[in-house]
Amino acid sequence: MALPHGLKVLLPVLALVAAAPAMAQPDYAAAIKADYDKDLGALWDHFHRNPELSHMEVKTAARMAKELRATGAEVTEKVGGTGVVAVLRNGPGPVVLLRADMDGLPVKEASGLSNMSVARQVGVDGIENPVMHACGHDTHIVGLVATARRLVAMKDRWSGTVVMIGQPAEERIAGAKAMLADGLYTRFPKPDYALAWHVNSLLPTGTVSASEDIQYSSSDSIDITVPGVGAHGAAPHTGKDPVYIASQLVIALQGIISREKPPLKPGVITVGAFHAGTKHNIISDHADLQVTVRANDEDTRAMLIAAIRRVSANVGRLNGLPEDKLPVVKVIEGTPVTKNDPALTRRLNAVMVQTLGEEAVVPFEQKTMGAEDFAYFVQADHKVPGYYFAVGGTPRAALDAAEAGGPPVPSHHSPLFKIAPEPAIVTGATAMTAAVLELMKKP
Ligand SMILES: [Zn+2]
Ligand SMILES: [Zn+2]
Repeated sequence: MALPHGLKVLLPVLALVAAAPAMAQPDYAAAIKADYDKDLGALWDHFHRNPELSHMEVKTAARMAKELRATGAEVTEKVGGTGVVAVLRNGPGPVVLLRADMDGLPVKEASGLSNMSVARQVGVDGIENPVMHACGHDTHIVGLVATARRLVAMKDRWSGTVVMIGQPAEERIAGAKAMLADGLYTRFPKPDYALAWHVNSLLPTGTVSASEDIQYSSSDSIDITVPGVGAHGAAPHTGKDPVYIASQLVIALQGIISREKPPLKPGVITVGAFHAGTKHNIISDHADLQVTVRANDEDTRAMLIAAIRRVSANVGRLNGLPEDKLPVVKVIEGTPVTKNDPALTRRLNAVMVQTLGEEAVVPFEQKTMGAEDFAYFVQADHKVPGYYFAVGGTPRAALDAAEAGGPPVPSHHSPLFKIAPEPAIVTGATAMTAAVLELMKKP
């Protein structure tokens, strides 16, 4: 009795399944997977064990140059420091830039992976630190090699010039600017389109996601030095205490967010470092703050930075610091908002649906105010439309378990960060190959 009833329910379902188009993975997806199994997995293992800090990606760049040269691309090294540029010419047609960032982070890996990094390196700041690929840039560079190999294998299916770059120092939002300043758009073919992807630990493996507008916020790193007048800790009236003044400043800066910034415009001010003093009973002669500022539009960005300058100076005045010894505010580095080109994004998101399937293309949702220096490649004055997409890096089961109260998924930059390399690289390279074939297809 139960059986016929069950069948009645099952049959329409089967009919539906049969009617739906089979999820056609393109032929090159299997080739990328085979390439991963054969040697790209080992290449990822190598990069994961041997991360290098921003601006110091010397061995990584040399290996990337070797891998890209082996595909037949013309490779130029040391562009903007350790940057690598590989040009693949294949007849007339558009120029498409593919960017992968190469740097690791000063983090001691505790991911539990069998190929955990034990590397240490002296950074540009002169300080030795443990190093880890704690943002997944190792998957990006292997993905670029995978894409290069596939494009060479399918030269009959596209026409034009692909410019592939291994970019240094993304984590210091400095490498893109350095490569442009070193002639990326003048010494090499200037792109008609610029593409990049980033693995994302909050997205399930096998998925991609791209915004038709803002993909990443702007970011500015600001140093504030608060001068003081040193004194004995028991005689505060004889000095000017910079710890006290800088503490007021830390609080006052948050007033910019809550009382000055329009509430419907996103923005963040975070004081990430506060250093002052040497000992219990000495009033220091200065305090140093390191601040990050995020925004989603240039007006808010400029307003926040101007307000930080004004509030810093006036907190100094409030405490009686003389005009020539007010807090000094310096913008050390910054990057604009990373915006995707809306028309290009609609076009390529449709290609992602065709290539990976409807469910694999997740609607974009900006969850944090993370930043990216890819923004420099697609600034309006270059007239280079950009498409930047996220690629899932965590198995769905792990995300579901975390949502059900299980172990949390470690965030990017955490010592526990780990992504599933194979699906990230295979999906990223498949998606990137699909995008290039669309933009460069033979007429
Ligand atoms: Zn990062
Ligand atoms: Zn990153």
